[in-house]
Amino acid sequence: MTRQTIIPDEHRPLIMVVDDDFSARLQLRFTLENAGYEVVEAASGEEALSLFVQQPPALLFLDIIMPDIDGFETCRRLRQTVGGEHTPIVMVTGLEDANTITSAFDAGATDFISKPINMLVLGYRVRYWLRSGSILNDLKISQQRVFKAQEIARLGHWELHLDSGKFHISAQTPEQFGIDDVDSYDSLFHQISPSERHQVRQLITEAQRDGKSFSLNYRIVLPDGQERIICNQGEVALDRKGQPAMIVGVVQDITELKQAEDQIRYLAFYDNLTGLANRTLFREHWATIQPQAARSGKKVAVLFIDLDHFKRINDTLGHPVGDKVLITVAERLKTVLRQSDIVSRARAEQTSSMISRLGGDEFTVLSANFSSLDHIANLAERITQNIEQPIFWNDQTIALSASVGISVYPDDSDDLDILLKNADTAMYEAKEQGRNNYKFFQRQMNDAAKARFRLANSLRRALQNNEFELYYQPQFCHKNKRLTGVEALIRWHDPEQGLVPPVQFLPFAEESGLIHSINDWVIVQACQQASAWVKAGLFDGCRMAINISGQNVNFKKLSKRIMDVLAQTELAPQYLEIELTERVMMENTQEAIDALKQFKEMGVAIAIDDFGTGYSALSHLQLFPLTTLKIDKSFVQNISGQGNAVSLLNSIVGIAKSFNLKVIAEGVETPEQLQVLDTIKCDEFQGYLFSRPIPKEQFEQSLRSGNFCLKPDCQTKKLMDS
Ligand code: C2E
Ligand code: CA
Ligand code: CA
Repeated sequence: MTRQTIIPDEHRPLIMVVDDDFSARLQLRFTLENAGYEVVEAASGEEALSLFVQQPPALLFLDIIMPDIDGFETCRRLRQTVGGEHTPIVMVTGLEDANTITSAFDAGATDFISKPINMLVLGYRVRYWLRSGSILNDLKISQQRVFKAQEIARLGHWELHLDSGKFHISAQTPEQFGIDDVDSYDSLFHQISPSERHQVRQLITEAQRDGKSFSLNYRIVLPDGQERIICNQGEVALDRKGQPAMIVGVVQDITELKQAEDQIRYLAFYDNLTGLANRTLFREHWATIQPQAARSGKKVAVLFIDLDHFKRINDTLGHPVGDKVLITVAERLKTVLRQSDIVSRARAEQTSSMISRLGGDEFTVLSANFSSLDHIANLAERITQNIEQPIFWNDQTIALSASVGISVYPDDSDDLDILLKNADTAMYEAKEQGRNNYKFFQRQMNDAAKARFRLANSLRRALQNNEFELYYQPQFCHKNKRLTGVEALIRWHDPEQGLVPPVQFLPFAEESGLIHSINDWVIVQACQQASAWVKAGLFDGCRMAINISGQNVNFKKLSKRIMDVLAQTELAPQYLEIELTERVMMENTQEAIDALKQFKEMGVAIAIDDFGTGYSALSHLQLFPLTTLKIDKSFVQNISGQGNAVSLLNSIVGIAKSFNLKVIAEGVETPEQLQVLDTIKCDEFQGYLFSRPIPKEQFEQSLRSGNFCLKPDCQTKKLMDS
C-alpha cells in the first residue's frame, strides 16, 4: 500500500500509539500513516515511558487498560518527564463513563476518544490536537521568556482589582521585592523603609483616586537586612463606565542601576583624585547659592587657592608624590572649612561652603553667608597656615605653601567667570608679593592684569615682526688686555614705547612661557652674528655669550636646538657660551646636567650667571658641569661699600678656581672695583667701565678698529694701554 504523503517527510509529526493490543495499534498506525503522520508504537506503559525519552512524539494515544501500569499512571508519569509536560495525550477509552473521563483529566490527559475509533475523522482531530498543543507550547515558551526577562530585569508585575480587593503579583521571588505575604495588597508596603512607607502609600492612593499613573522610587529592607531600591510604576485601568477598576503595576529592583547612576554622577561632578567637587559641581553650587544670596542681600566669597611651586614638586619628586600632596591639601582644606563652619554655626549663621578642585594645583572655595570680610580673611589666613605645614612622606619632608586670591559677590561682580578671574588676579598679586599669603581683589589689579594681557599680545607680535634686537657688551681679560668675549643682551623696539629694556618684559615672558621662543630667537641671532664675525676674521679667541632663562627649560630640546643652529650657522662650538642661572638649572636638575655635559664635551662654554644672588650654593659648582662663574654685579657694586664683601668675593674666587672655573665679574663700573677684582685674581671683566651694551654695527666697528674706546667717558683704551 502506498502511503499518502500529505506532509513533507522531514516535517511529518511523530505520533506514539500505546496499546497492549496489537491489532488496535495496527489499526491506528494504518489510519495515521495514511493521514501523513509518522507512527511509533509502544506495547506497554513502561515501554512508552522509555521510548518517549528517546523519540519525543508530538502526540500520544494512550490506552487505559494495560497489564503492568495502566494509562492513568502512564499519563501521570509522562507529565513528570522532561518535555512531557505539554505533549498532547489522548486517552483511548472503551468505557465512556464519567469516572473514567474525570480520572483521565486528573491524570493530565489532554482529551479522550472512545473505542471503537472513528477512523474517518481521526486525521482531522489529530490535526486539531497538534495545533492546540503547539499553541500551548508556544505560549508556555513565551511565558518562560517573559519570566526570564523579568528575572534578569529584576522586574515583577502586580495587579489589584479594586472591587474584589484581589491582589496578584507575578514576581517569581516576591521576597526580592520585600513582599512577604504574596496574596495581599498591603504586603506591597511592608518592607518599605518606615520613613518612606506612608508617603508611597499616599501617592498610590492619590493616583488611584485621580485615575493617574505613578512612578515611585523607594527603599526596602529585606529580612536579611539588605537594603534595595525599588521602582514601582503603575496605572489605573478603568472599567467600561470609566470608573477605576484595577491598578496594574510593575515593581523593579533598580539598586544596581541606582548605584551605577551614583557612580556616573560621581564621575561627572567630583574630582577623582581628591574627592572634592569638580568644576561642573562648583558651577552648579554657585547657581543654587547665588539667587539665595541675591534675595537675602548677602555676600559670597570666591577663594582661589594656588599652590606655590607645585610644578617643582611634581617634576623633582614625581607625579605620585604630587598626587599625594594634592590629596593632603584637599584634606587640609576640608579640615579648615569644617572648623570654619563650626565657628559660624556657633554664631548662628547658616553656612554653605564648597571646596572644589578646578584642575592641576588650583582649588577654589565658595563661601556664602558670612557676616564680615574679616571672617573670610581669617579663613584665608587659616588656609595658608594649614597648607604651610610640611608633609612627611617616605622619609621626605615636603615644604609647601599656597597663595590665595579672593573676590566677593556682589562687590566685585555678579558673574561667576568674572569673580573667578578676579580671584585669580588677586592670587597672582599674592604670589607677586612673595607667595604664601592672601589678597582680596582690588580694581587696580584688573588694570595690572589687563596690562599683562596686552604685554603678552605685544610680545607675540614682537616675535613675528622681528622687533627684537641684540645688543653686545664686551668682556675683557685683564692680563693680556684682550677682548675675550661678548654677551648678547636683548632689546625690544616696541613701536609704541620705543626701546624697552629686558627687565620690563622678560619677567613676563618667563611667566607666560613666551621666553622659550625668545630664547630660540636669541640662539639663532647670536650664532649667526658670531659666525659672521668669525668668517670676517674679527672674532679670534672670542666667545659669544647668550642668556637662556625661563621656567622649565627643556634641556634635551635645548641641546638639540643649539647643535642644529651651530651646524646651520657653521659656528664652531668653542665660540659659544651659554649663561644660565642656578634657578634655571635647578628646575630640571638631571636633564640640565646631562645637556651641559654634552655641551662641555663639544667645547661650548657654560657660565653660571648672577652668582651671589638667589640660591648661590657652592655645591652647585660641583653638581653642574660648568666652565665659568659670573659674579653678579650686585656683589661687585658692594666692593666699595662697608662689610666683608671683598673677603667673601675672595673665597668665592678661590673655590671657583679649585673647581677649575674661570671667574668673570660683571657690572664693573669703577677703576677701584677693577683694582680689587684684579687683586683677588678675577679672570675677566664686563661693565660700563669698558662699554655699555651696544648695537651690532657699533660693536663691529670697534672690532674692526681694534679698540673698545667707544665713548668719551670710557677708559678702556687707557686701561688696555696701562
Ligand atoms: P644679566 O645676564 O646679569 O646681564 C647683565 C646686565 O647688567 C645687563 O642688563 C647689562 O646691561 C647690565 N650691565 C652691564 N654692565 C653693567 C654695569 O657696569 N653696571 C650696571 N649697573 N649694569 C651693567 P640688561 O641688558 O638690562 O639685561 C638685564 C637682564 O636681562 C640680564 O641680566 C639677563 O638676565 C636678562 N637678559 C638680557 N638679555 C637676555 C637674553 O637675550 N635672553 C635672556 N634669557 N635673558 C636676557
Ligand atoms: Ca648674563
Ligand atoms: Ca648677571
